[in-house]
Amino acid sequence: MKIQVLPPFVAEKIAAGEVIERPSSIVKELVENSLDAGATEINVILKNGGINLIEVIDNGCGMHPEDLELSVKRHATSKISSINDLEKIKTLGFRGEALASITAVAELSMISRTVETETAYEIRTHGNSDVKKPEAVTFGHFLGSPHGTRIQVEGLFAQIPARLKFLKSPKAELTHVREWLERLALANPQTGFSLKNEDKTILNLRPQEENNRAKAILADEGDYPLISMDNFSSDQAPSIRLRAHWLQGMSSPQTRKLIQIVNGRAIRDRLLMQAALAPFRQLLMPGQFPVLAIFVDIDPSEIDVNVHPTKTEIRFYDTGKIFREIRSLLDGMIAKQGAPAFVPLSVSAQQWTAQDSFQNFSHPITSFITPSDQSNLVFASPNPFHGARFAGMVFNTYILYDHGDELILLDQHAAHERVRYETLRKQIILNGTIPPKQELLLPESVHIMQEEFPGLESRLKFLEKLGFGVEIFSESSILFRAVPAAWGTDSLRVRLKNLIDKLMSYELQENHVQNDSVLMDEQLFETLASEACHSAVRAGDSLERSEAEALIARLFDCEHPWNCPHGRPTVVKIPRGKFEEWFQRKI
Ligand code: ADP
Ligand code: MG
Repeated sequence: MKIQVLPPFVAEKIAAGEVIERPSSIVKELVENSLDAGATEINVILKNGGINLIEVIDNGCGMHPEDLELSVKRHATSKISSINDLEKIKTLGFRGEALASITAVAELSMISRTVETETAYEIRTHGNSDVKKPEAVTFGHFLGSPHGTRIQVEGLFAQIPARLKFLKSPKAELTHVREWLERLALANPQTGFSLKNEDKTILNLRPQEENNRAKAILADEGDYPLISMDNFSSDQAPSIRLRAHWLQGMSSPQTRKLIQIVNGRAIRDRLLMQAALAPFRQLLMPGQFPVLAIFVDIDPSEIDVNVHPTKTEIRFYDTGKIFREIRSLLDGMIAKQGAPAFVPLSVSAQQWTAQDSFQNFSHPITSFITPSDQSNLVFASPNPFHGARFAGMVFNTYILYDHGDELILLDQHAAHERVRYETLRKQIILNGTIPPKQELLLPESVHIMQEEFPGLESRLKFLEKLGFGVEIFSESSILFRAVPAAWGTDSLRVRLKNLIDKLMSYELQENHVQNDSVLMDEQLFETLASEACHSAVRAGDSLERSEAEALIARLFDCEHPWNCPHGRPTVVKIPRGKFEEWFQRKI
């Protein structure tokens, strides 16, 4: 074996690969530089989704000619000068490698002018090795300002076919750019942004308040209410300041609309993503995500932003704390405001107090949940039926209430599923009791594959804890003699088969299987509960008024009343104005 030191141009291209993956990486780095330079206007212009040209113009502080020359050198930065500075970084850049990396993989030219100088200077690079002296050029204004910087990047990866072929279509690359620009724009609402591709305007955002910017970016064209919440309006000062803007009515099939901003830095962090998604798990259909922006402000010494070359991930020194804080803010927000379902609010739900929510319908016990674990907070949800008048039932499915300025509809099936689900959950997970059983007149047998047999017996124990009576019957079948009473007996065979399939596909950890006093696993529980939902009142069963009221009372005793466990809404409101539109009483 012979060790070689790589020639600089090879080493540079390798290092550049860590920072520059696609046009959006360049846009992110250039726009972050513009923001660090104090720009209040940033324009991004693309040709062919950025593959042919990326141009970024800003009205920031600009660079002196000697800095222009230095800026493209690796580890050239004006932002930190000692290792100690790393602990208190306020700027977005600090590694001093973005411009050097871009130079290694594309043709880069920059024109810049500072406030102090009369002249603008231009530099053109072809690789990092021989950077020519900047030349004075005549250049008018940078977005209406005499100072600023214009950077053009052309022919990305033109010299590196291996990287070029990993780029997607211009349309897909444009989408990436747009997504990054949206995140950066949300993190910096005081700055104006525009994005053009092939002369078509994709984004045009004027400086604005944070919540307006959030709405502009999250809502696309939709007319959904934006809910904003923070954890610092309360009395005790939190160590991590959080605020969230949430497009309450909307869910999205992508995580693209889940924006994370930590200390002003737009990031894509797995931990934050998980923390933000956890409270929504039961509220959304599988594959649907909330539309949400989370801002985290934390002491810079409690995080490390230098764990990833593109600085898109962050290390939190106390991950448990950040997880808990986010979870509790979002849980509170959901409890107050409901889950994603189109619910135009005519009265701000915040005006309802917890007190109000329990005054409606005289139901006996309002708080029968005794959380076994203190962190498991129980929130009171505002009961939207408070003060509303029963107005009948339609299609044997929806219960109608007249609330003066709104018609409120309840999907009785979805509501029942939610109630069933939470009742089971309380019994099994919180109280650790086995739910009441229902003996089957005719036991149901379920066929088992040969290869599933090992491990079957120990897994069946879990089902006993959930209220099933089950035993191995033959080499290829098991027999159910009892099911939880809440299950009912509708299409039982299919549901039992589903349950066994899930049970077998689920990877139990060895020590769980051996240890009898194991905690019920949530995942298995959810399978059980979602199968249980099949037996809830079917749409089509007619309910009496008193039954409807009892159902609503029980629904709003639930921790998550706004959705069934599969994410369908339980309650929808139609404002009176909609009716007036339909009947053309209003123009
Ligand atoms: P970093 O941002 O980590 O310092 P970069 O390679 O991105 O490294 O930029 C190098 C330096 O070039 C910056 O530290 C800054 O001084 C200067 N610079 C880059 N872009 C701009 C800009 N748009 N306006 C003013 N100065 C800039
Ligand atoms: Mg930078």
